[in-house]
Amino acid sequence: MISKNDNKNSPDNISSSTVSTSTNFIQQIILDDLESDKHQGKVVTRFPPEPNGYLHIGHAKAICINFGLANEFHGRCHLRMDDTNPCKEDVEYIDSIKEDVRWLGFEWGEHEYYASDYYDRLYDFAVQLIKLGKAYVDSLSAEELREHRGTLTQGGRAGRYRERSIEENLDLFTRMKNGEFEDGSHVLRAKIDMNSPNLNMRDPVIYRIRKVSHHRTGDKWCIYPMYDFTHCLSDMLEGITHSICTLEFEDHRPLYDWFLDELKTPCHPQQIEFARLNLSYTMMSKRRLLELVQEKVVSGWDDPRMPTLSGFRRRGYTPSAIRTFCERIGVAKANSTVDYALLEFCIREELNQKATRVMAVLKPLKVVITNYPEGQVEELDAENNSEDPSMGSRKIPFSREIYIEEDDFSENPPPKYFRLSPGKEMRLKHAYYIKCDEVIKDPSSGKILELHCTYDPTTKGGWSADGRKVMGTAHWVNVGTAIDGIVRLYNQLFTAEHPGVGADGEEVDYRSQVNPNSVEEITSCKFEPSLAQATAEQRYQFLRQGYFCLDRCCQQRSPVFNRIVTLKDSWAGGGRGKKK
Ligand code: ATP
Ligand code: MG
Repeated sequence: MISKNDNKNSPDNISSSTVSTSTNFIQQIILDDLESDKHQGKVVTRFPPEPNGYLHIGHAKAICINFGLANEFHGRCHLRMDDTNPCKEDVEYIDSIKEDVRWLGFEWGEHEYYASDYYDRLYDFAVQLIKLGKAYVDSLSAEELREHRGTLTQGGRAGRYRERSIEENLDLFTRMKNGEFEDGSHVLRAKIDMNSPNLNMRDPVIYRIRKVSHHRTGDKWCIYPMYDFTHCLSDMLEGITHSICTLEFEDHRPLYDWFLDELKTPCHPQQIEFARLNLSYTMMSKRRLLELVQEKVVSGWDDPRMPTLSGFRRRGYTPSAIRTFCERIGVAKANSTVDYALLEFCIREELNQKATRVMAVLKPLKVVITNYPEGQVEELDAENNSEDPSMGSRKIPFSREIYIEEDDFSENPPPKYFRLSPGKEMRLKHAYYIKCDEVIKDPSSGKILELHCTYDPTTKGGWSADGRKVMGTAHWVNVGTAIDGIVRLYNQLFTAEHPGVGADGEEVDYRSQVNPNSVEEITSCKFEPSLAQATAEQRYQFLRQGYFCLDRCCQQRSPVFNRIVTLKDSWAGGGRGKKK
């Protein structure tokens, strides 16, 4: 059945993700094409981002599909920057796109292309269309163009420039290129059918005047080709066999085919549409994500709350878990919204296997073990991952003073409270049983300052020789060797399942749905000493707290750990948006 090739440049092993056993409709098309030898046995796909923003999880789906198919069918996938809109594009975006695709585990090798590299040839194709009588220069105002275009229910009508002679069109188009006219004074349009029921076919604009510099071609051009014209011809020039795009381009397919047919190009890629990924509580339009960055709702494109690949990377999501997610959601023809919990499930499932277990106390309460010798430190054994003994163990220091979690002590415990309370015993993970003897308080405020406890030396490792049971087990950190640091707990960036959509389905400003509690920063955390070696690539399970990784962009002197995901699915039971 279908299997994926290993990608040598992948940071993790691609084949470790679930391999799908059923064939989706795109795979079926390719299998049929291979059988009928439609493209001489070749499979060439492309991922064509517009470099006007950072890649997001929706793009990850398209990347996995395109590179995945190329891997699977021993073909190739091109990375093409679809850079035809000089006003919004930037080199910063190009660099980030390349970094993100590689991070996700895919490699395009020498096949890195730019639509702007085709400008000369696209210009020649446009001239060819004019000579065929299939394109004309229109000089209607923007308002007139709109008016002549008609609506979904009403046909359009021909404007007064539609029947210009080929010579006049050639002359005007040359002069457009030479910069003789102002922006918006003329456009080049395909001459198709102003009455077509498909609006895309009503003489679409194929070139417009834009007197702006392009990040790659500089001031060479002052006319720029439109997306529909550029895209099919770029595909054709690169010998793409299957041009896979999202569903909103279905109505553009007749135009895609029209250009290639009219120009009688030597090859004719097939456009295939699939449903774009929508994710609950997540906004994916690049324009809106840019607004979040510009309006400082988030700290940048790589803010760990952003659905961008750089945000996910910083948050600690792994590329392999994202690929697994993309595989699980599958490829379909109908739009739908995927529950964010599925993405978290994939992350958690992988981290449960791979993450090193460590101890970190987020809200410390000091415990003095009064019967433990002063000045003594012992090194206790702690397994790195109970799910995987091959991950080994480490030593953790234990001494007379430790920190436990504030929440793990209650002076007046409610019924069924299994943690520490006066006179009661609790197990310290990997260490001993301790019993609380005394609560030391600030006499003026009544605030608990520390606990005085005694330990049972016969319970080393956390097990009692006499079979005495305790119900609660707490994590802890040794005071003398603790690392001070910060933890950031993330929640959904939006409180609405469909940001931008109100309770009654009406359109609302997504800004009103930003979750005011999307990040909680805890600044007085105590980490076990092994975390001094933490890198941003390493993921940890802080026992009982969730999965964490070191923030890669940390500006602070103390380490900052981002919570990647909680230990359990806290979405179930209606706790949405209020995750702890
Ligand atoms: P946006 O609408 O957010 O600006 P876009 O579709 O214009 O995104 P492009 O840079 O043109 O962004 O996208 C590159 C490729 O990624 C396209 O082939 C597009 O179909 C695909 N893509 C973008 N968003 C999604 C998504 N949510 N799900 C699947 N594929 C997507
Ligand atoms: Mg696009």
